Amino acid sequence: MNKTDIIIIGAGPVGLFTVFEAGLLGLNCVLIDNLDKPGGQCAELYPEKPIYDIPGVPYQTAQEHVDALLEQIKPFSYELHLSERVDLVEEIDLDGDQFWKVKTTESKEFISKNIFIAAGAGSFEPRRPPNIVDPDKYINKGVEYAVRSVDKYTNKDVFIFGGGDSALDWTVELSKTAKSISLVHRRDAFRGAQHTEELMRKLVKEKKVNLLTPYLIDSILGEEKVNSITLKNFDTNEIESFDADELIFLFGLNKKLGPILDWDIDLNNKKIQVNTENYQTSKNGIFAVGDINDYPGKLDLILSGFHETTLAVQEAYKRIHPGERVPFGYTTSNSKLQEKLGVKK
Ligand SMILES: Cc1cc2nc3c(=O)[nH]c(=O)nc-3n(C[C@H](O)[C@H](O)[C@H](O)COP(=O)(O)OP(=O)(O)OC[C@H]3O[C@@H](n4cnc5c(N)ncnc54)[C@H](O)[C@@H]3O)c2cc1C
Repeated sequence: MNKTDIIIIGAGPVGLFTVFEAGLLGLNCVLIDNLDKPGGQCAELYPEKPIYDIPGVPYQTAQEHVDALLEQIKPFSYELHLSERVDLVEEIDLDGDQFWKVKTTESKEFISKNIFIAAGAGSFEPRRPPNIVDPDKYINKGVEYAVRSVDKYTNKDVFIFGGGDSALDWTVELSKTAKSISLVHRRDAFRGAQHTEELMRKLVKEKKVNLLTPYLIDSILGEEKVNSITLKNFDTNEIESFDADELIFLFGLNKKLGPILDWDIDLNNKKIQVNTENYQTSKNGIFAVGDINDYPGKLDLILSGFHETTLAVQEAYKRIHPGERVPFGYTTSNSKLQEKLGVKK
């Protein structure tokens, strides 16, 4: 069984930054995520969208932000376990001392005095199109639930489904390079930003976007990969056929707290209650940081999570080294870190 200073559940931006803050205090971490890559929502939902509110970074795509965080934690000691979900968290006694044990879906077990739940929206899954049987058989063969690479859609007949920000943003963006782009929505009203909707409607007038409302996907056709679809027109009730290469379903996510509900931690509105002194939950040694937590005034922003985990790591240190003063120092005068980074003075 693997013993570590901090077990971090979730390798989103806040989980990744936890490794940095822990590293500054000389603590090592095990980081576990059920996705197949680090970066949480940034990497999974909007890797190519720009983020403008990371302090000191005027512009960065979400994937660039994740890459920068991975670069920042390189000097520190951590293990990353991907594609496995933490299912079980239980309290154990080791030689009279209280510890936590976690077990993953791959049956790996880890022990620590501190668990950081940085699980964002929980284990999230994209919403599938409602009336298609097994749309996932076309995953990477013409069906996607997120845009991972803009280049993939160059010179293709692309259909985007949805009525929110993502659907509008990607319709506008991909209209620059796709052979044709169609936006399909069940009604002629959108929930996204007004200026993006206006931009989309301007592109429709210029015949650069084909707007199909009120339509719903009826079937996906193709042997090896998607080659056409049928859509139901709600005005006429007719089924219409279209040639199609790529279908992007942007219906949002089903957020599932999943196993977290079984860990007997106090919740508030399906989020984990914490105190704002050290972001500890109702269990000593279990902290919740980032989007997963709730407290008065909480904002689901990356920078809020960074602040929260910085304070939580201080408390984690105290639990490992009871009675000791937490070493505080500015990174500008941290010679060990500068040495590891190879900074020349
Ligand atoms: C379209 C969009 C645009 C956004 N733009 C901005 C922006 O401009 N600025 C900003 O500050 N914020 C923005 N956000 C919000 C920002 O992405 C979140 O605040 C941030 O991702 C929260 O980070 P996190 O690390 O707490 O959680 P997440 O990024 O959600 O990561 C949590 C990770 O935990 C994993 N996980 C969950 N449960 C388990 C389990 N049991 N076992 C293992 N792993 C588990 C998940 O797979 C996930 O990878 C945006 C969000 C969206 C959707």
